[in-house]
Amino acid sequence: QSAAVITIDGPSGAGKGTVSAMLAARLGWHFLDSGAIYRVLAVASVHHQIDAQDELGLVPLASGLDVNFDIQDGQTRIILEGEDVSDSIRTEEVGALASQVASLPRVREALLRRQRAFREDPGLVADGRDMGTVVFPSAEAKIFLTASAEERARRRYKQLKDKGRDVSIDRLLTDIKARDERDMNRSVAPLKAAEDALVLDSTQMTVEQVLDTVVEFVEKKL
Ligand code: C5P
Repeated sequence: QSAAVITIDGPSGAGKGTVSAMLAARLGWHFLDSGAIYRVLAVASVHHQIDAQDELGLVPLASGLDVNFDIQDGQTRIILEGEDVSDSIRTEEVGALASQVASLPRVREALLRRQRAFREDPGLVADGRDMGTVVFPSAEAKIFLTASAEERARRRYKQLKDKGRDVSIDRLLTDIKARDERDMNRSVAPLKAAEDALVLDSTQMTVEQVLDTVVEFVEKKL
């Protein structure tokens, strides 16, 4: 009998990251940020000068990816080949590159085992695009968290502004729509809600409201 899993899938900027991390902390469970793995792979492909469309070149890089998730002072630091990339993987450029490498079937396949290894007692909260549909189809509770593209662009804009970054909201909206388009229309593991997922639209909800709804749903399922 393997450990319990709760999956939280959805498009970028819907609040999955925040909600998943809070839920994992609340339950005292492990946390998988699968998007970070695709982002790390994107950065590694640049380091190793492998083109983001070179599927055969990327497969060995993906299977042998030297990445570690270290907890330091209660925060997860992401270490790629000995280098802390926790902050540098969060840019829009890396996100766009991650979505390109993520569209390659064999690359996704090569990352399956690594993701499934996070399923450990007492349980796992897994955040991504295909956690409930492909990686953990037998998950105990599945949530699909979404929000309008405009609202997601607004949230991202605020996040970046707070960090002192100068960004255009129109540009962010264009980028978000392009990434949605690519994530939803790829041939393998496209972004879509699992049939048995609770679909939650967070456009008009606060983080606390989303978390409360998710906790209530999860308690019924476990
Ligand atoms: O969630 P995040 O924005 O960090 O993910 C970056 C990219 O990685 C996404 O746009 C998506 O293309 C890809 N991804 C994926 N499957 C996952 C998680 C992320 O294809 N489970």
